[in-house]
Amino acid sequence: KKKGKNNFSLFDDIMHKELLEEHQLTADLNRALNAGDEIVPWFQPKVDSSGRLIGFEALARWHHPERGILNPVSFIELAEKKNLIVPMSDQILMKACSQMSSWRKEFSIESWTLSVNISQSQLAMGNFPEKVANTLAETGLPASVLMLEVTESVIAESIETSIQQMSRIRAMGVRFSLDDFGTGYSSLSYIRQLPIDELKIDISFVRTLLSNPETRSIVKVILLLADALSLDVIAEGIEQEEQLQALGELGCTRFQGYFFGRPQPPELIIEKLHAGYE
Ligand code: C2E
Ligand code: MG
Ligand code: MG
Ligand code: MG
Repeated sequence: KKKGKNNFSLFDDIMHKELLEEHQLTADLNRALNAGDEIVPWFQPKVDSSGRLIGFEALARWHHPERGILNPVSFIELAEKKNLIVPMSDQILMKACSQMSSWRKEFSIESWTLSVNISQSQLAMGNFPEKVANTLAETGLPASVLMLEVTESVIAESIETSIQQMSRIRAMGVRFSLDDFGTGYSSLSYIRQLPIDELKIDISFVRTLLSNPETRSIVKVILLLADALSLDVIAEGIEQEEQLQALGELGCTRFQGYFFGRPQPPELIIEKLHAGYE
């Protein structure tokens, strides 16, 4: 009995600490969003089968004054919970487009694309299509450069609205990629209805590709499906040469992963662009 009680108060202490922690981080997040320069996009290369760059995916990083550089796992969920995900993601979209636009002016990367992740609440906002249009106008980025990444769960939350919103944005020339593909519960008929241009094979398939014959078959089916629906395919999370080779043999032609480059701050990307990244 006594031990049980002690365990319980220990549990209370932990809960209390977590609440304080969350409270502090929420205050920090609010401050960061107001300051406007702490949460920024880093950029991860996307490459074709010959290893040449075809663009970047923007991934949010928080330069926290005390905690250092934070990855999205440590703040995206909190941002969702505290209704800060929309302002946060809007900032990332604006900064990523602005960065890409200025790189396009300096380097010959006309055909490169910029992928930006968007959240459910962002897509659900009635004015999101206008926001995208304004962002493109303000940054001078051509619509054809921008690809918005959504997950199946983002769309499934309110499928009718999502499809409407995506169609309006797609009409401007912006493309959509279905992120983490294969991890959701989408039926074939559902996928067919979606106004998307690309499937992004989830990292979990790449991770087990070499060890699990079933994964190989699944990836094969995804590539066939994409072909049947005239969708592009990109695989994410390639860390080894052997994974690249296996994916290549199956017919995949676009890749992303640590093997080609980690997400990097814009300063590093600029250096590499100067050094002749292409
Ligand atoms: P995601 O869009 O599926 O992004 C891929 C994640 O895998 C990124 O994690 C990336 O850094 C990581 N990754 C890339 N290559 C490799 C690899 O070879 N090996 C391994 N182990 N990991 C790799 P990150 O940057 O921590 O982002 C996590 C998730 O947070 C993203 O998943 C995306 O859903 C979300 N996210 C990131 N930035 C934003 C944003 O600006 N807005 C919104 N709404 N969500 C974002
Ligand atoms: Mg993504
Ligand atoms: Mg993904
Ligand atoms: Mg993901």
